Order: sequence, then C-alpha cells, then structure tokens
Amino acid sequence: MTPNVTRAEVCLLGLGVTDPREIDVRAIAHEVGAAVRIRKLTRCEARIVGTGDRAIISVSEDSGFQRRRFSIAHELGHWELHRGRQFECRAFDIDNAENGPLNPERQADEYAADLLMPWYLFKPRLAQAKHVDLALLEEMHRTFDASLPATALRIADANVEPVIVACYDQSGRRWFKRSKDVPERWFPVDKLDPDTYAADVLTGKRDRTHMSAVGANAWFDAEGIGEYEMREQSLRLSDGKVLVILRITEEAMQVDYGRFGHSTDRSR
Ligand SMILES: [Zn+2]
Repeated sequence: MTPNVTRAEVCLLGLGVTDPREIDVRAIAHEVGAAVRIRKLTRCEARIVGTGDRAIISVSEDSGFQRRRFSIAHELGHWELHRGRQFECRAFDIDNAENGPLNPERQADEYAADLLMPWYLFKPRLAQAKHVDLALLEEMHRTFDASLPATALRIADANVEPVIVACYDQSGRRWFKRSKDVPERWFPVDKLDPDTYAADVLTGKRDRTHMSAVGANAWFDAEGIGEYEMREQSLRLSDGKVLVILRITEEAMQVDYGRFGHSTDRSR
C-alpha cells in the first residue's frame, strides 16, 4: 500500500529533504523536539520518554550505525503516533516484520520505513527496475541505509512486479509479504522444502543463490501447481535467517481466479 503522502514524508518535505543522504534522523528528531542520547541501556535497545512536546530518545551504544538509525526512526514513530505513552523497545520490537499490523511496535517500524525510505525518493529509483532481485535489493539497501529485511518489505510494497519476499529460519517461515499483484491465495510454505535453493542457504551450503527457476510446488501447496515454475533467489542474513525473493512469473498464477484448488494435504 502506498498512500499519497505519509506522515513521515510530510516531515521530510517540510525539512526540504530531496536526497536519501539528507535523511539525518538526529536532526529530524531535534526538529520535532526529541533529543537523542547514545548510552548504555540494559533493559532495552531504545526508548523514548516524553513530557509535553519534548522527548528524550535513548539508543543503546552497543547497536551498529544502521541499527541505531532505524531505532531512532522507530522511536520517532512512537513520538508521532503514540504520544503520551512511554516505550522501552527491546531488540525484537524494532525492525521486526513478525509483529502484527495493530502492534504499536510494528506501527513505529512502518513510520521508520516511511522516514528512511520515503516513497517520493524510493519509487523514482525503482523506475528503471524490470525485476526484483538481490542486486536491486542491495542497491536500495545501500542507498537508503536501511536493513535488508526492511528494504525488501519496501520493495514488495512498491509492486515492481508480482513478487513475494519472505524470511525463514530453522523453525520455519518467520514472515512474508506479497506485492499487490500477487493473489492472496499464495502462501509460501511454512517449512522450507528441500527442493528450494533457500534450503541450501539455511543449512549453510551456500551464502546466496542466483535467481533461478524452481518448481512452484516447492513453494506453494495447491492442486495442479506441479506444472508451473517460478523464480527464487535467497540470501543468508547476518543473524542466520534466510531472506527469499520469489518472483511469480507465470500468468496463470498471477490472476485472481485460476485453476488451482487447495490441496487437502496440508502436512508439508
Ligand atoms: Zn518501539
């Protein structure tokens, strides 16, 4: 979903930001009355304490530069969306797509994504892109200095082509997101099929794969899907999870109503 102008974009436009390199989260915090302190934190990774129209955002000194940047943007999300409440955000509260849409932590993450990757700067850089792959993801990740998962979610939202981004670990699927043109009936498998390239990445055989054709039945559970192919590319993240890009290339799989019934075998 790409609303015309997000709240974060209103803030950036008000500051005259015209290039991703100008998105200075500490300066933005200052503009909205929040001072940022990098300090030792024990109970959380970042927090915000506000009184009236002034706030102090504290971020752990143990976080790396990019993570601190996202954490500050996340706390600014709480400041904008949940003013009057105090938040102590733990590592799994920040930049975590597993949190549901009504969770204030997810809402703060979405504000952070809007602030760090505003559509008015993000979309023009995708205008030449024909396909979604790791090269595109990594280029956007470097340009906007946001984590690979946050950038992948943004690219799915941008709807360059029918694509699903997903994240897996040893316990199974952690989260996924479809671009708008992928029918809602497509749920990537709960557990990685050994026939996927992502399974090789998860087990450590490879760090990343090429964009490759794979049988759609390795990723989806539906009657009649065995005859279709799709494309898959995977990357191991620094925390050991696997980030997967799934391109839905077959027209029959892109239409809302197709010839696929759900298999009765859901055991996979
Ligand atoms: Zn939070």
